[in-house]
Amino acid sequence: MRPEEHEELKRNVLVTSLEQLKGWARSHSMWPLTFGLACCAIEMMGTGGAHYDLDRFGVFFRPSPRQADVMIVAGTVTKKMAPLLRRLYEQMPEPKWVIAMGSCATAGGPYVRSYSVVKGVDQIVPVDVYIPGCPPNPAALIYGINKLQEKIRYEAKTGKQVTNR
Ligand code: SF4
Repeated sequence: MRPEEHEELKRNVLVTSLEQLKGWARSHSMWPLTFGLACCAIEMMGTGGAHYDLDRFGVFFRPSPRQADVMIVAGTVTKKMAPLLRRLYEQMPEPKWVIAMGSCATAGGPYVRSYSVVKGVDQIVPVDVYIPGCPPNPAALIYGINKLQEKIRYEAKTGKQVTNR
C-alpha cells in the first residue's frame, strides 16, 4: 500500500465495536414520552420549543410509550397517579431511561409533607438522572439530557451499568 493510500484510509475508516456504535446512535436519538404532571412540564415544553430546540440533540417527543425510550418525569407525582406512571413505564420497550425533573419528581418538593404525594419517583420507577430545581430551567434540563447521553455512551463502551437504583 502506498503511503498516501494509507493516509487516505486513516482519514476515512472508523473502527469501533457494535455496542459502542449502538450506544452512540441511541444517545443521539432519544425519544421521550410526551406527558407532564405539573408546573415543571411547562419548562419541559419550553425546552422542546423553537428557542431551545431539543431536536438538535436528536430528542423528539413521542405520544405513545411503545415508541419512547426516555421518560421525563416533570412535576409532582401523586399517589393516585403513581400506578399509571408505572404502567406507562412498563409499556416502554427496552432499553429505557428515566429523568426525574425538578424537586417534586426527585423527592416530593414543596409537597414533601403532603399525604397524597410520592416522595420521589424513584420509589416507582428506576431513575437515571436527577435534575434539581423548582422548576429547573431549560438549560438545566438540557444539561440533564447531556448527562444521560454520556451515561448511555459510557455503559455501551465499558459494558458496566451506572446505577442509582
Ligand atoms: S418542582 Fe416546583 S415547579 Fe416543579 S412541579 Fe414541583 S412545585 Fe412545580
